[in-house]
Amino acid sequence: MAIPEDIVAFIGLGVMGYPMAKNLRAGLSSDKTLLVCDVNTEALERFKTETKGQGPVETVQNGFEAAKAAGTVITMLPGYAAVRAVYLDPQTGILAGAAAAAAAAPSDGLPLVQKLIMECGTIENDTILSVAKATDELSTSKLAKSLTFVDAPVSGGPMGAQDGTLTFMVGCAPQASDQVFPVVKSYLQHMGNQDGIFLCGDVGAGTAFKIINNYLSAITSLAASEALNIGVKAGLDPKLLTDVINASGGQCWVTSKSNPVPGVQQNVPSSRGYEGGFRIELCAKVLGMGSRLAEMVGARTVLDGPTMQAFGEAMADERYQGKDARVVYKWLNDSERS
Ligand code: NAD
Repeated sequence: MAIPEDIVAFIGLGVMGYPMAKNLRAGLSSDKTLLVCDVNTEALERFKTETKGQGPVETVQNGFEAAKAAGTVITMLPGYAAVRAVYLDPQTGILAGAAAAAAAAPSDGLPLVQKLIMECGTIENDTILSVAKATDELSTSKLAKSLTFVDAPVSGGPMGAQDGTLTFMVGCAPQASDQVFPVVKSYLQHMGNQDGIFLCGDVGAGTAFKIINNYLSAITSLAASEALNIGVKAGLDPKLLTDVINASGGQCWVTSKSNPVPGVQQNVPSSRGYEGGFRIELCAKVLGMGSRLAEMVGARTVLDGPTMQAFGEAMADERYQGKDARVVYKWLNDSERS
């Protein structure tokens, strides 16, 4: 069995995690083993087939097995329930696995196992902080010394995940960041831009940066959809309208990189039936997280309420469920003005 430093685990091979793990496998040297884990066994099998010849890939059943064997565990999970299960379950969780690895390590003066665990999904702040607290409690016990948890959420969407050009927003305890951040970067660089890996502050800060970014992009998804829909209903050419907007003051990521009008841009979710993007349910989840953050810090907001209401209406209709969030354009386009 390889030593833990030579084993990296990746949990959560979904829309984002699958291409991220593929880029990680391609970037790691071939003497390193990549352990992969997902409740979706089809994704695991496909992953093994598609990465054949790039270095060892093995599957594990859960966070416990991943953390027991690997020096670094990266997770890309959909929300708090999955994170709590994967990290905190006393039988199958990552922390239990790290504790088991440390308990099995020699204690005769040799350093105990050092492990790095990081969540790259956009997860509710209280869950991130509970995992950080549980990790701290464990890492100060004799059970699992030097266990470090960081939050490292991403922006860039599925295209960024495929191209390996994601932006990472990392939160890491200040007392550990000098040592830990370079190690974090050494893994994330395989999945993101070298100059797009930001140390944002203490654990949780990465998530706060990410939530604020998504708050903005959820609102601009609706705003851009509304504007383009006015143009389409007025009989204007949406491609030309997009070109003009992108050369003018209305330009934003949604108009220039993930245009919501089908056919305006190639290889974006709207041009493939709004499949393979950032699900509207996840986008609404993060918008809600932004609203709660605003409430916590006493920041006045205006646009979150109406945007949430619009997303809620679209999500209640099965034609738009599970689709990329830019499907709000389709929802508007299909709707009657009341
Ligand atoms: P997804 O639902 O496609 O993927 C989640 C994966 O986790 C699935 O494969 C699922 O089977 C797996 N999973 C769930 N519970 C598990 C468990 N207990 N054990 C093992 N595997 C488990 O979601 P996604 O779009 O890839 O998003 C993942 C995270 O990234 C979310 O937190 C999301 O908010 C964030 N995010 C998504 C995008 C995007 O554009 N899709 C962009 C940035 C950030």
